Amino acid sequence: MNVAVTGGAGFVGSHLVDALVARGDSVVVFDDLSTGSTENLTGALATGRCELRVQDVSQGIDCEVPVHEVYHLASPASPPAYLARPLETLAVGSEGTRHALELAHRNGAKFLLASTSEVYGNPIEHPQRESYWGNVNPVGPRSVYDEAKRFAEALTTAYHRTHGLPVAIVRIFNTFGPRLAEGDGRVVSNFICQSLRGEPLTVYGTGEQTRSLCYVSDLVRGLQLACAESFGEPINLGNPNEMTVLEIATLILQCTGSSSEIIRQPLPQDDPTRRRPDIERARTILNWSPEVDVAAGIEMTVAYFAHQLGLR
Ligand code: UDP
Repeated sequence: MNVAVTGGAGFVGSHLVDALVARGDSVVVFDDLSTGSTENLTGALATGRCELRVQDVSQGIDCEVPVHEVYHLASPASPPAYLARPLETLAVGSEGTRHALELAHRNGAKFLLASTSEVYGNPIEHPQRESYWGNVNPVGPRSVYDEAKRFAEALTTAYHRTHGLPVAIVRIFNTFGPRLAEGDGRVVSNFICQSLRGEPLTVYGTGEQTRSLCYVSDLVRGLQLACAESFGEPINLGNPNEMTVLEIATLILQCTGSSSEIIRQPLPQDDPTRRRPDIERARTILNWSPEVDVAAGIEMTVAYFAHQLGLR
């Protein structure tokens, strides 16, 4: 198949591109490299079956090759990254999504939207099922990401209902693994880099807030299954293994053998208190569930960062 991937030079996108190339597809990547990097695509580009087009998909998507699947991942995704680019984040969620949907519609292709657990905001229902409408502050700092993704879900659903476009909407919960950008501020990359450098681990707030961490290879398998299935309604993809931020810090200290101390920093505004996916729909519809144990995933991620930082 020919496949288009927006945001294919990013953390999740580049792992997806690797998987698509490995299954024999030809992939065109659209990425403005604002948070992704060409380095992430080194392996895929070397196969000759991946082409990178440096483009901001909010402005349009120039794709003359016919495509069978469109994966729309383009967006800043870590809180510091989208908070630094509020207008760009809203633009890529709205105009970028419209351009990606048009590309799929023109080609009669399947369309996958990478949505997010952030559509649930600071959830009152726990764990979060797809039927939950969420608790989002529409004018808080995180709204630029949350509402962009909620709008993207609405637009994708409208294309599905209006044009019969086959669509998959996946709500991605916290994902980690190699190629997380070192300075992008997410909890796993921050704690691993801090541990490896012997710096204090910066726990925001009490550290009692929870997240559920999914290893990137599990997520990528879910993305491919979801696109093939094109279920039409949102599906959560994540690992239900819920941990407090303090537990994540402790696990990373163990895996790195670091004696870094833990220090407290202020909790960012509207930081969700707890988050855990209900993945019954993914199990039933996609026959998908995560296979990589969180500690094993952390080990692989530590090895990646140790290499990146020139430590091992
Ligand atoms: N966090 C933290 N220290 C850090 C980075 C993040 O305590 O150095 C916390 C953050 O406040 C949140 C959780 O870890 O409660 C996950 O944050 P992340 O930015 O990875 O993603 P989010 O799930 O908030 O989008």
